[in-house]
Amino acid sequence: MPTPISFEFYPPKTDEQRAQLDKTAAKLKSQKPEYVSCTFGAGGSTLSYTPETVERLHREHGLDAAPHLSCVGGTREELGELLERYKAMGCRRIVALRGDLPSGMGHTGDFRYATELVEFIRREHDGYFHIEVGCYPECHPQSDDALADLRHFKAKVDAGADGAITQYFYNADAYFRFVDDARKLGVDIPIVPGIMPISNFSQLRRFSDACGAEIPRWIGKRMQAYGDDVEAIRDFAADFVADMCRRLIDGGAPGLHFYTLNLTKPTLSVLARIR
Ligand code: FAD
Repeated sequence: MPTPISFEFYPPKTDEQRAQLDKTAAKLKSQKPEYVSCTFGAGGSTLSYTPETVERLHREHGLDAAPHLSCVGGTREELGELLERYKAMGCRRIVALRGDLPSGMGHTGDFRYATELVEFIRREHDGYFHIEVGCYPECHPQSDDALADLRHFKAKVDAGADGAITQYFYNADAYFRFVDDARKLGVDIPIVPGIMPISNFSQLRRFSDACGAEIPRWIGKRMQAYGDDVEAIRDFAADFVADMCRRLIDGGAPGLHFYTLNLTKPTLSVLARIR
């Protein structure tokens, strides 16, 4: 059986972005994803856009769409209403996160950590939703203690998470080590690697600094050497990410979750190389 794949989108806010997502969703559907997911801005910054997008992906594109739900800055009531809305849409899978509050937003809300959100979903809707959580093979950026970070991940699993998706990384060994360490702690849920195909390298650098994903030096050097040769950069990036995906699959990864950034080409270029 081929490795299950899933695609992550962000919720468009303008007509132009909506058209772009429609195009991308239609093209990526041909790859038969197990499901697609849609991000959610912590503190409610995409409070209406995420449910609208989930509904659109579901109704217009016939995709099994899983909303992300970030709890920081939200209240029990707000998140409870969203969960009811998703239930009414027929969603069975939720990606439950803490999120990061936009700077300047002081109100932290009713939840401090994702564990509390997982507990809340279990308590209010026990067994209805399949709950995915995030995890960090290269350590969460606010945690300087990798073992404590691992224990906090286990707490989310103990609270009722059914599966986990990792932050993206470009070092397969970090994933394998993380999975081994989690198994030793008794974590037995699937841990699906998050894959970030490379489209815009300078944007990726900024992103990676913020979320704590390391870009190996040799990759940065290669990218630099290609200069403005966009085609060479794309080919190298797709080859490199596809090689890593093959290693992950051969090493037992239970699936691949692609951070698409609502773009078709970077993800398709990787898939074309591994399928
Ligand atoms: P948590 O699991 O709560 O962990 C956050 C930090 O707190 C970690 O350092 C952890 O070690 C620490 N911690 C946890 N519990 C405790 C405790 N009891 N005591 C002390 N420290 C503790 N962000 C969004 O805003 N919207 C999205 O849609 C979104 N989608 C994502 C999808 C995936 C697959 C991933 C991996 C991340 C996503 N993010 C998203 C980013 C995520 O919200 C941030 O990385 C955020 O900083 C942490 O979220 P979390 O759910 O992993 O938090």
